Amino acid sequence: AKSAGAGQWRRYEPSMTDQARHSELRADLGRAAEEGALFLEYQPIVALGTGRTVGFEALLRWQHPTYGRLPPGEFIELAEESGLIVPIGEWVLATAMRAACRWPAAAQVRAPYVSVNVSAQQLRSDDFAETVTRLLAETGLPAHRIVLEITESMLLRDDDKVWHALELLRGRGARVAIDDFGTGYSALGYLRQIPLDIVKLDRLFVRGLTTSRRQRDLVEGIVTLTRALSLDIVAEGIETEHQRQASAATGCTYGQGYLFARPMPEAETSTWLAAGHLP
Ligand code: C2E
Ligand code: MG
Ligand code: MG
Ligand code: MG
Repeated sequence: AKSAGAGQWRRYEPSMTDQARHSELRADLGRAAEEGALFLEYQPIVALGTGRTVGFEALLRWQHPTYGRLPPGEFIELAEESGLIVPIGEWVLATAMRAACRWPAAAQVRAPYVSVNVSAQQLRSDDFAETVTRLLAETGLPAHRIVLEITESMLLRDDDKVWHALELLRGRGARVAIDDFGTGYSALGYLRQIPLDIVKLDRLFVRGLTTSRRQRDLVEGIVTLTRALSLDIVAEGIETEHQRQASAATGCTYGQGYLFARPMPEAETSTWLAAGHLP
C-alpha cells in the first residue's frame, strides 16, 4: 500500500540508498531501450607491434534522465535479472554491426572488426545463433568482422546448447573471444577444448606484469599455451607505456586500454581511423 507513495518520496530524498536507486533503475530500463537512451561507445584494439587498429570493442552506456551517463556496471545485472538483456543485447549487436559496416579498409589492410559483449542469458536463448546470423545478413557485415565476447563461467556449465551455438557461428566465420581471462576459474587445460579464437587477458594481469615476477611468468605461460592453440591474445587495460612494452615483451600481440584510447562515440571512430591509425 505504501510502496507507490514511498517510491515517489524517495525520488526527492537527497541520500537515496543504493537499494532505492536500484529499483528506480530497474523500472526505467525497459523504457530506456525504447526511448533510445542506450548508446554504444567503441574502444580501439590495436596491434602492439605496429599500433594499427585491428578492431573496436562496443561498450554499452545509458543516458539516464536523472543520473546522467551510467556505465554498464550499474545496469547490466538489472537487465539480466529482468530478461531485458536479450532484446538489449540484440540491439547492441545490430548497432555495432551497422557501425562496423562504416569502418573503411585501407590498402592491404582489413577493415577493423567489432567485438561485442554477450551475456549468459543471451547466449543461452534458443535462437542466439540464428539472431546473429540474421543480423549479419541484414546489416551486410561479413561474419569474419564480428567477435563475440563471452566469459569463462558461461562455458564451464555443461551446456551443449551454448557450445553448439558457438560452433555454428564459428562455422559461419564469426569469432569467439573469452573476456576477462584469468578472473574466472581459469583451468588452463580447458582452453584446448572450447570453441574459441581469442583470449582477452584481464587487466589485473596486465597490471601484474610490471609489478610481479610471478605474474609475468604466469602470463608467459598463458601466452605459450594460446600460441600452441593458435589463439590470438589481447591484453586488456593497458594504461602505461611500461605496461604496453611488458605486454608486447611477454608475447601478447594485441592490446586495448586508455594508453591507446578511451571508449569513444561512433562519430569519432572514423576520425580515429583516418588520423593515421591505419598504416
Ligand atoms: P569488459 O568487456 O571487460 O570491457 C572492458 C572495460 O574496461 C570497459 O568498461 C572499458 O571502458 C574498461 N577499460 C578499457 N580500457 C581500460 C583501461 O586502460 N583501464 C581501466 N581501468 N579500464 C579500462 P565498461 O565500459 O565500464 O564496461 C564494463 C563491463 O560491462 C564490460 O567489461 C562488459 O563486461 C560489460 N558490458 C559492456 N557493454 C556490454 C554489452 O553491450 N552487453 C553486455 N552483456 N555486457 C556489456
Ligand atoms: Mg568485453
Ligand atoms: Mg574485458
Ligand atoms: Mg575486463
